[in-house]
Amino acid sequence: MKLLNPGPVTLTKGVRQALLGDDLCHREPEFAELSQRIISGLANVYEDANAQYVPVLLTSSGTGAVEAMFSLVPGAGSNTLVAANGVYGDRAAAMLTAQGKRHHVVSSPWTSPIDFAAIETALQAGNFDHVFAVHHETTTGRLNDIDKLGALCTRYKVPLLLDAVSSFAGERIQFAEWNLLACAATANKCLHGVPGIAMVLVHKPAFTDRKSGATSVYLDLFRYRKEQTNGFSPFTQSVQVLYALDRALIELSAQGGWRARHQRYSTLTNRVRSALAEMGIRAFLDDEASYGVTLSSYRLPSGLAYERLHDELKREGFIIYAGQGPFAGQMFRVAVMGELSDADIDQMLAIVRRLA
Ligand SMILES: *Cc1c(COP(=O)(O)O)cnc(C)c1O
Repeated sequence: MKLLNPGPVTLTKGVRQALLGDDLCHREPEFAELSQRIISGLANVYEDANAQYVPVLLTSSGTGAVEAMFSLVPGAGSNTLVAANGVYGDRAAAMLTAQGKRHHVVSSPWTSPIDFAAIETALQAGNFDHVFAVHHETTTGRLNDIDKLGALCTRYKVPLLLDAVSSFAGERIQFAEWNLLACAATANKCLHGVPGIAMVLVHKPAFTDRKSGATSVYLDLFRYRKEQTNGFSPFTQSVQVLYALDRALIELSAQGGWRARHQRYSTLTNRVRSALAEMGIRAFLDDEASYGVTLSSYRLPSGLAYERLHDELKREGFIIYAGQGPFAGQMFRVAVMGELSDADIDQMLAIVRRLA
């Protein structure tokens, strides 16, 4: 099966085989060595991050990393400005509500960019001490303009929390320029690992300048960081998934790092987009330049139901992704993360051509 959904991704042979590594107790030095190596590998994915940011590993999906990232936000007296233009912006607001943390959501339609004018007005008023945004909004495939948002965060001196779950290792991230306090990521999207491990890269001084704002025992980055200084973890980590991530990081680096991966995704996405355009299948977003490279969304051609498209593709070994919420029934999505060849993509396109 070739997975064209936005994570989990099709694994390489090497990553799959890494899952069969030795049994290992998470209180033994071999475990500490493994997690130290992964932490340093993750810090080195972006040159810009390695001196100033420290990755914290969690056994969870990407959502757990985003939720744990909010343990950096103090419970009392804080006020977070949330930029939302899709499912994941709304989910972050729901997390802040669940944690009892004050916030204000600047929403724009899911087909529109972040409402920067409203963000700037809110920041000018000076009532916010954190900004949250989603980098690649997987709902539509829009790569939000974080250069622009980050410049506002820098100008108004407000730290930025970023959901980079579907962009980390696939898109450019400017840690310093964006005034990033932290970004959340996961093993099983652009990193090409197995689901089960997620991570938050945190600006190092936060762990000494701040106190934990955690509202749960498990999702407390401060607690993890304290033990991970020596490579350990307060709770049992998914050891085999870490073996796979270790291997995935080695492969990422051997393939030329995030830039080469970005280039590869871009090539595949363009291949999909231009072939679908020839079949008369239009991109969902009006401005094609607003897409990132990892995923793109398309309008279902009239007379072709999503279920039929999905089922026919699945029968021949390809999994695509439906639209969420109001887009169900109008949209389908194609992600190009994971181990995919040009031939895989062409084979998938040939099936769509037959149906469209
Ligand atoms: C996939 C994704 C998540 C987290 O999803 P999980 O299913 O919890 O791994 C969060 N944000 C974005 C932008 C995503 O694409």
